[in-house]
Amino acid sequence: MVLTEITAPLQGIFMIGAFILGAVVGSFCNVCICRWPAGESVVQPRSRCPKCLNGIAWYDNIPMVSWLVLGAKCRHCQTPISAQYPLVEGLTGVLFALVFWAFGLTPATPVYMLFSAAMVIVTFQDLNDWTIPDEISIPGIPAGIALSLAGMYWQASSGLRVTDIYDSLLGAALGGGILFALDRITVLVLKKPGMGFGDVKLLAMIGAFLGWKGALGTLVIASMLGSVAGLCLILYFRFRGPVDKEDQPEPDAPQGESSDEITLEGHYLPFGPWLAVGALIFMFIGPEIIDSYFAFITAPTEPIMIYEDISALMR
Ligand SMILES: [Zn+2]
Repeated sequence: MVLTEITAPLQGIFMIGAFILGAVVGSFCNVCICRWPAGESVVQPRSRCPKCLNGIAWYDNIPMVSWLVLGAKCRHCQTPISAQYPLVEGLTGVLFALVFWAFGLTPATPVYMLFSAAMVIVTFQDLNDWTIPDEISIPGIPAGIALSLAGMYWQASSGLRVTDIYDSLLGAALGGGILFALDRITVLVLKKPGMGFGDVKLLAMIGAFLGWKGALGTLVIASMLGSVAGLCLILYFRFRGPVDKEDQPEPDAPQGESSDEITLEGHYLPFGPWLAVGALIFMFIGPEIIDSYFAFITAPTEPIMIYEDISALMR
């Protein structure tokens, strides 16, 4: 009897456990998202209310539950607590459960759980602060390459997407290289602010974890999602028309710091969240996407059949 057969009846319990673990890790992700942009330690001091500085007791720090129980307000001073906290916790919990569901009891599961948490931090820090944490992307590159060595040892049984160090090295070089070239072209040829070096390091890290196909696949998915979102944003601002900034308070956006032109109103979108979403999609279903893509482009087409179907519909 193999391990998966023995543990099959426990699958549901493991997935609930993975969700709870993810929610707890998500709680720590929140600390990173808040403190890294300010250059603060994520270990000291203990979690406290940013307004009244009262420490947050353990019973007020239960992922998602405490936010609901407290009615989204600080227990001591009633300062509102952003919905981003339970959102990050719930999202990380769901991702951990999905990783367990997809990769099961393999070495890949803890690795991709951590990778998912990293992508959650990247997404929310970029949305809040327009930066991508070096704390993740820089150590992530050697970590992904080292992981590919473990993949070479374990091979397919590990569940890892990359089981060859050359794939990992090529992924890091290709991911970083393409975005670096795009950034230089944007700055030097188009004379516009480039996408920034944070995205270059991030896609290099994603390539180190997911290989060269992962780097390219992530970039394609991210570009498609980003284009759709960008179009929606342009249409939104066009139809909304000019509105005084005082009338549009954005609680999450730092006010009075928009001296540079990189704003949503300037039709800029942070690219990090799309890279993170693209990487997660590729992590979960990358091989399936590649297979169905090649099945699609090599499938025999039957234009006459389609024509007959359309003419039947017209009648
Ligand atoms: Zn307070």
